[in-house]
Amino acid sequence: MNVRLEARAVTVVPDGSRRAILSDASVQIRSHEVHALVGPNGAGKSTLFGVIAGDVRATSGTALLDERAIGDYSARELARLRAVLLQQNAVTFPFTVAQVVEMGRAPWARISDEEQDAAAIARALADADIAALAARAIPSLSGGERARVALARVLAQGTDILLLDEPTAALDLKHQEDVLAVARRRAREGAAVAVVLHDLNAAMSSADRVTLLADGRVVATGTPAEVLTAERIEAVYAQPVDVFPHPVTGIPLVTPRRA
Ligand code: ADP
Ligand code: MG
Repeated sequence: MNVRLEARAVTVVPDGSRRAILSDASVQIRSHEVHALVGPNGAGKSTLFGVIAGDVRATSGTALLDERAIGDYSARELARLRAVLLQQNAVTFPFTVAQVVEMGRAPWARISDEEQDAAAIARALADADIAALAARAIPSLSGGERARVALARVLAQGTDILLLDEPTAALDLKHQEDVLAVARRRAREGAAVAVVLHDLNAAMSSADRVTLLADGRVVATGTPAEVLTAERIEAVYAQPVDVFPHPVTGIPLVTPRRA
């Protein structure tokens, strides 16, 4: 359970703005764990992801990868250490699925051999359940299929740090479960996996650790059951909920209270 990525008291104030969109936020992403980031729209989840991915600069505070400042790594080094699925991942050019997934191997050009590349690509296609779509052109795919191609490209990068920003957002029930299972499997193999989720039940059952953000601040961090209490969810989301043990699994289940 080594800490691979860390934000220490990070504040982000966008250029030309005076309002912090992230305030004094700290988080640790460890190997062998799935760490879910949850919180309302605009809470700062993607911003915090950007900071620990090395894509967004902290105005104050520090972001570390393997205890070294993230800004000290070259783009090439970062691409071999961590892969990032952005919330917006528009590939609109008429590439084929196979071509887009192959792009995930770019950081390894002249380092990995053809066999390693082929194995990583085949595994990524299978994990994202898009092997049957390999020859299709991206513009011909549905939104959910495109989202799975974007995921496969990130998986093909073959890093053991994964940052997935809302990877399940466009997906049907089965493919949501598949993505969570892939995240769990990669963590079991030793990867440090951070994932932004809106589905609190997915966080509850798939994450080892949860960080709840609201208004740019970390409200709580800990195990899912510690963090996702009815009281806290209601306060942060302004939505009454019931939290009760699932009759079969015993895992706490969150449901909005409806009239
Ligand atoms: P989340 O991913 O939790 O929905 P984001 O991290 O994307 O939230 O954004 C947090 C808040 O910061 C939002 O209110 C968003 O509109 C704002 N924001 C994000 N980027 C910028 C920026 N470059 N300039 C100004 N505001 C920004
Ligand atoms: Mg976001």
